[in-house]
Amino acid sequence: MDQPLVEADAEIRAEVRKLCARFPGPYWRELDLRRGYPTEFVTALTEAGFLGALIPEEFGGAGLPLSAAAAILGTVHEEGCNGAACHAQMYIMGTILRYGSAEQKRRYLPGVADGSLRLQAFGVTEPSSGTDTTALRTTARREGDRWIVNGQKIWTSRAEHSDLMLLLARTTPREQVAKKTDGLSTFIVDMRTAKGLTIRPIRTMMNHNSCEVFFDNMEVPAANLVGEEGRGFRYILDGMNAERLLIAAECIGDAKWFTAKSVAYAKERVLFGRPIGQNQGVQFPIAQAYARMRAAEAIVERGLERFEAGLPCGEEANMGKMLAAEASWAAGEACIQTHGGFGFAEEYDIERKFRETRLYQVAPISTNLVLSYLGEHVLGMPRSY
Ligand SMILES: Cc1cc2nc3c(=O)[nH]c(=O)nc-3n(C[C@H](O)[C@H](O)[C@H](O)COP(=O)(O)OP(=O)(O)OC[C@H]3O[C@@H](n4cnc5c(N)ncnc54)[C@H](O)[C@@H]3O)c2cc1C
Repeated sequence: MDQPLVEADAEIRAEVRKLCARFPGPYWRELDLRRGYPTEFVTALTEAGFLGALIPEEFGGAGLPLSAAAAILGTVHEEGCNGAACHAQMYIMGTILRYGSAEQKRRYLPGVADGSLRLQAFGVTEPSSGTDTTALRTTARREGDRWIVNGQKIWTSRAEHSDLMLLLARTTPREQVAKKTDGLSTFIVDMRTAKGLTIRPIRTMMNHNSCEVFFDNMEVPAANLVGEEGRGFRYILDGMNAERLLIAAECIGDAKWFTAKSVAYAKERVLFGRPIGQNQGVQFPIAQAYARMRAAEAIVERGLERFEAGLPCGEEANMGKMLAAEASWAAGEACIQTHGGFGFAEEYDIERKFRETRLYQVAPISTNLVLSYLGEHVLGMPRSY
């Protein structure tokens, strides 16, 4: 179904496929049941060098472009696995790479590349602010050679399975800054040693290891401020196109997985003396979801090209993420329908994938916010918020 245009990506995909074959459906099903973390899978990806793909070679990574990371995560999903346990590492580290001090890069990136340091937690969303990020209430107050952090995050995925967290906190009150996007700062929190940090898992409809995180006078060394004080929101925004393109690649992978399952079953299930796939009522939703996936894929590929060429790619990253999430959902819907009752049986993995892929119309950015970006920034209509 998929012929990558880039030869290097074809090799990466083949290697990832081999790795994923060691983690078949029963592995994910068992974890899903107990909301467990796929430690063995993440370790295997790390040891194979895939999670350090984007880290430059001078820091021990593979120094590959974003399209390679998209090929890795896309294939993970196409093979029925789930990159949610570790995908954030790929885009979070970009903030340290672009804005971190030489000392921070030297201290953290080699460990992230070889897996001895897990940089999987990204603390932005809060219960009261949600999408309205600049209204966040977590504060960091400078006291001598450290920052004192107080507040709460929600939906901090993988917080229990990460050594480091990239944290966004307000360092100047909103009333004292000219623009609400000013006065926010980014920190590297070493969660292994941080005192005053409490993590509480949230049980969700899919296995995502998401948590609430509470900060009670948590101390962060001054040296762990990333870049300049007050500019953290820009640093985070800067990484968002990469995040959206990678999540889109995962959704495209999900859509391919669902479609492959649907096609196989539609050919093999015989009723009324013929395969169900011979009925166009069964065939067309599968074909339609496939077309939607290919359209999303073309936009994501364009976004990756522009990203790698250093060109603006907000339009493609946002559209690609929205369309890919919708395509994976359409493919999942067609897959359940094609399988009839069996689509609901856990052992087919379809209902698990169906639950997993639904998230991406809400996180890391909801569809409405993508539409609002397009309406305002691309089409030039009035700002709504
Ligand atoms: C499983 C999971 C994992 C996550 N992982 C992380 C993580 O690791 N780190 C992190 O920081 N965050 C994480 N998130 C948070 C995620 O990014 C947010 O859930 C998402 O951005 C939406 O925010 P919210 O849930 O607060 O919804 P809200 O902001 O409350 O929005 C609710 C609804 O209102 C709509 N809406 C809001 N404002 C407008 C508007 N102006 N116009 C039109 N519609 C609007 C939204 O589109 C949405 O549908 C995760 C979330 C989930 C569920």
